[in-house]
Order: sequence, then structure tokens, then C-alpha cells
Amino acid sequence: MKAHDGMYIDGDWRPAAGQDTIAVVNPADESVIGTVPAGTAEDVDAAVRAARAALPGWAATPPAERAAHLKALHAALDARRDEIAETVTAELGSPLKFSQAVHAAVPVAVAASYAELAATHPFEEKVGNSTVLSEPVGVVGAITPWNYPLHQIVAKAAPAFAAGCTVVLKPAEDTPLVARLFAEIVHEAGLPAGVFNLVTGLGPVAGQALAEHPGVDMVSFTGSTGVGKRIAATAAAAVKPAALELGGKSANVILPDADLARAVNVGVANVFANSGQTCSAWTRMLVDAARYEEAVALAAAAAAKYVPGDPLDPASRLGPVVSARQRDRVTGYIERGVEEGARLVAGGPGAPEGRETGYYIRPTVFADVTPDMTIAQEEIFGPVLSILKYEDEEEAVAIANGTVYGLAGAVWSADTERAAAFARRLETGQVDINGGRFNPLAPFGGYKQSGVGRELGSHGLAEYLQTKSLQF
Ligand code: NAD
Repeated sequence: MKAHDGMYIDGDWRPAAGQDTIAVVNPADESVIGTVPAGTAEDVDAAVRAARAALPGWAATPPAERAAHLKALHAALDARRDEIAETVTAELGSPLKFSQAVHAAVPVAVAASYAELAATHPFEEKVGNSTVLSEPVGVVGAITPWNYPLHQIVAKAAPAFAAGCTVVLKPAEDTPLVARLFAEIVHEAGLPAGVFNLVTGLGPVAGQALAEHPGVDMVSFTGSTGVGKRIAATAAAAVKPAALELGGKSANVILPDADLARAVNVGVANVFANSGQTCSAWTRMLVDAARYEEAVALAAAAAAKYVPGDPLDPASRLGPVVSARQRDRVTGYIERGVEEGARLVAGGPGAPEGRETGYYIRPTVFADVTPDMTIAQEEIFGPVLSILKYEDEEEAVAIANGTVYGLAGAVWSADTERAAAFARRLETGQVDINGGRFNPLAPFGGYKQSGVGRELGSHGLAEYLQTKSLQF
């Protein structure tokens, strides 16, 4: 247990304004592994002032120099991959192998992509008799969740730096240690003082103070749809842009000619990765009536391979969820599924055997889920899969599009063109065709209540730019 002091403001660790702290708990054994200061509006104000003071110099830094800073950031992140993975596993509970392969590796790739984009993006373009300048939006208030804690920080900070913006980050209270590690990495990489600032704290206190601060030019938020709506309303009152990456309830549509075993197995792995705490997880599996029971049996068999276990054990594929609150929330949804008449074919409520300590959940699969059920409509954010039946493609489209969300999805077919044609009909920000790989350069974001704006690649960079045209 380590008491971490200070906020990273203006290139240095400064004492927090108040005395309150937040305990960081290891969800695998419920031990307190550290504390961080609970920031106040005063800390947020100091951080925003530092970011404002640093803005003119950083915005005027030529893109090629900003790119060199991002290269240094990429190298510093790469050098500390192991420490990043261990920190995320300790505070989030994801299996160490997954932390290495995803939580540590993806931010390194994203930082590399923005080092490249900062060097190559056309920040000035000729349009007829005009020169169009892409200028930084200004000071960015970044508010991030705990489920991919470093990725979500880097997916905001790296494009903001590339654009010439300065940043104040308020990370999730459950996972502040990797955010502190990121501040150390930024410092090591030699970014100018004030370009990046960190205030740890509670959402309704430090987060709200950041979203409301008049010195913040743009808010970039990833988190729940409920908090996102509040942030959007606050930003709208000050006519500030708000980029929002929110919840999801994505559909995995298995068309009748698809390789069923592969589609089901990859689908189950997708839902159980990170203990189901993935906003883009394919939590609704849609299968045609003729092969429905076969798919249910395959999914139940696949779920049996996800034995909840210690995240430090290399054999573990499923760790705990992040907190007691999340465990109770997810358990409540599992109970609701049973009450509403879905058929439990794997898992169920209650702690897995031998895992009463730690916030473990049994990997759960529900069959006979109908589109109106709570578990088919609301984001559960745990290792819970709902399998729905469709009669024809029209019905599959209607079910897939039948929630308030539209973040991700998947389509499987023996005919790639058929799958792509189906994907075009989905109201969602990204669709993986036959298990298409994650692409850190492709835009990521939501349709409908899954969000506003895009992260990653050049689309992610554009969020942090505003344009000015000069007519000659
Ligand atoms: P959350 O909304 O509770 O918290 C997210 C962040 O907002 C945290 O830093 C929190 O402290 C802060 N916050 C809370 N209340 C606030 C307020 N009143 N004002 C300002 N800030 C406040 O979400 P969570 O439980 O941490 O994360 C899980 C959610 O995030 C899920 O719904 C998930 O789908 C979503 N998510 C979305 C994406 C995406 O890219 N679309 C990615 C990951 C997670």
C-alpha cells in the first residue's frame, strides 16, 4: 500500500489543495494497494491555468517538432510496457497477459500513429483562393473511465498534443495509478511544462469542476451515457465542443451461411475479454432460427473455458470486475435476466466457487433472450452474453438496430460482400466483418446515444482542430 501524493501540474508534482484521498483497491483480493489525492475545484483551477499558460507556445510549435515530442512519448511508453501492464492488472483486475497484449500495447501503437500524423497531417490547405488553417481547439479537459484506462487517456492526449492543444486529465477514480504513471512518462519524454496536467479525484467534484471550467475550450469525455449527457449539457451552455464516447449494446450478427463455430467462439471471447468491461463488446449474439440451438450449445461450451481466476496466473482468461459496485450491478442484471424469463445456459448470479473474495462473476450466457428484455437493451458491462433468434435478415437488422446505442458490431457470412452489405444497414460506428482486426488508424465512435465525435487516426485528430480560412 503506497500513499501517492500530489497532482502533476505545470511540469511538476504539486501538493493537492485538500487532504482527502481516494483508496485504490485491487479487485482480485479486495486489498487497498494505494491512495491518491482527491482533487478539488482548486486543483482543477491550478491545472487549467497551467494548461492555458502553456497553450500559446505549444500551439505555435511547428508540427514537425510536436511530432518529435510524440515520438519521444511513444518511446517512453514502449520502454515501460511491463510496468503499465502490472499497474493495470493491479487496479483493474484484467489478466496480466491481456494487460500486456492490450492495455499496454494499444497505447504504444496509438502514440506511434499520432507521432506519424503530427508529421504528415496537412495543417494548411489551399481551397481555391483560400488558405485553410487547422488550428488547435485550445485547452482540452479530458475525463476518462477505468475499463481501458491508459488507452482512453492516450486516445485523447496523443491527438490533442499532435493538434497543438494542451490537456488537463481527470482519470477514473478506480484506476488512477496508471494515469499517474502516464504523467511520469510524459515528464520523462520531455514535453514542455503545462502541456499535460493531471488531477485525480471524484467525478462529481473534480470531473464536474473540469467540465464547467471557463478556461477549458473543449471537453473530451469517455464514460457512461448518463454522465455524458450531463457533460454535453454543461458544454452546450458555454457553446463548447464536447466529444463523447459513451456506452454500447453491440450486435454480433451471424448470418445463416457463416462458419458458426468460429463466429460463436470469437463472439464469446469478445464478450468475456476484460471481464466484459468493453464498451464495444458484442453483447447480443443474433443467430438464425435454424441454427439457434447449435449456437447456444457452442456458446455454453465456450463459456465453460472461461474459469474465473487470479489475474496474475498465466492460465487465467477471466479476472474479476473492477469494483464491488460493478459486481453488484452486473449481478443485478443477471438476476433480472432470470426474472424476465431468459434461459440461463452458463453461469448465473452468485460468486464463482472458490472466488468469494475479490469481485468475481460467473461467465454467463443467456438464451431465449427477446429484444424487449432489459438484458437485451441495457449495457451490463460484465461477462454476460445474450443470444437472440431471428427469422430473416430484415428481422436481424431490426433487432440489431433496436437499441438506443450504436457503437460497434460484427457480421459473419461465408460471403464477405453479403456481410459488408448487411453491415451498411447497421446504425453503428464500426462493424467487424468475419472477425476483422482492430485498426488503430480507423475512426472509433458511436452513432445514436453511443456518442458524438470520433477517436483514433486522422478523424480523432480532427476533433482537436478548428479551422480558419484566409481569402486571397
Ligand atoms: P462514468 O461515466 O461513471 O465515469 C467516467 C468518468 O467520468 C470518470 O472519470 C468519472 O469520475 C467521471 N465523472 C463521473 N461523474 C461526473 C460528473 N458529474 N461530471 C464530470 N465527470 C464525472 O463511467 P465509468 O463507469 O467509469 O465507465 C464505464 C462506462 O464507460 C460504460 O458505460 C462504457 O460503455 C463507457 N465507455 C465508453 C467507451 C467508448 O469509447 N464509447 C469506452 C470505454 C467505456
